[in-house]
Amino acid sequence: MPVPIKIFFIGTGGVSSFGSRNLPSISIKVSNELVILDAGEGCQYSIFRQKLHPVKSKLYILLTHLHTDHVNGLPGILHTLSLAQKKDVVKIFGPVGTKDFVNKIIDAFNIYPLPFIIDVREIAHYNPLTHIASTSIFNIIAFKTYHDVAATGYILVERTRPSLNATKVQSLGIPLEMRKKLLAGEIIKLDNGRIIKPEDVLEPPKHGRKIIYTGDTRPINDQVIIEKMKNADLLIHESTFIRKFHAELAINRFHSTVEDAIEFALLVKAKNLALFHISPRYKDIDLIKEIVIETLEKLDAVGKLNVFIPNDGDIFFL
Ligand SMILES: [Zn+2]
Repeated sequence: MPVPIKIFFIGTGGVSSFGSRNLPSISIKVSNELVILDAGEGCQYSIFRQKLHPVKSKLYILLTHLHTDHVNGLPGILHTLSLAQKKDVVKIFGPVGTKDFVNKIIDAFNIYPLPFIIDVREIAHYNPLTHIASTSIFNIIAFKTYHDVAATGYILVERTRPSLNATKVQSLGIPLEMRKKLLAGEIIKLDNGRIIKPEDVLEPPKHGRKIIYTGDTRPINDQVIIEKMKNADLLIHESTFIRKFHAELAINRFHSTVEDAIEFALLVKAKNLALFHISPRYKDIDLIKEIVIETLEKLDAVGKLNVFIPNDGDIFFL
């Protein structure tokens, strides 16, 4: 059984904290790695309450853009990590401007001396997709999004390791040392002179679980990005507005609607869709649920896609 990937919905609201939902933040925890996607106000409280151990974990903070609602929890996190004497490097990714932003936080909040290194990488999006990091669990790819400031989304693809077909390896009598070479992609020659190529004995590649977080964006229409997103296990798509009521606002403010998110999830053949960045203007979640059913029926997609609206504190197991 693969190790479960736990996705913690820390804050599921958007725009302002007037509603009952906290500002955007998601944490993904697998063994000793913690990935924080956006850092809405106060996110550190839930991160500690959920026992995600940001001090002891290998920490990656992925910011989608520098709008206040997505980053105003960052000073608190950095301050706490500093007080707790975190030792290993904190990697922060974000759009151009993130370096300056992080430096200003450190200066303005006087978070000195820092006991750890902050490694900030900015993503300029010269290409639609940018591979930004390989952790021991994930390959992380940034993609260009369409918001009214420089913005980026993230695809996390589980890294899978090649494995050998045990029956084939045994029947061919391949010694241990040569098995390692095959796993490393090398061609081997057995004592009996037989040549074995890795593809002769490797199992078919395993599906690496795929998680996508859009951040704030209009629906993405870049084919390169769409291809890379295909067959996502979990798509966390912003859905700030409802098209039926606020189509114009969604366009003018560079956001997506619930209907956009469902259409996009079907386009990339996602298995699960989390509607995220819920605006405080929609106090009645039942209204959003009605729109979901209506949209799925209209698109003849009932049963093809699991759509849910996570609450703050919910955990999704993949
Ligand atoms: Zn925004």
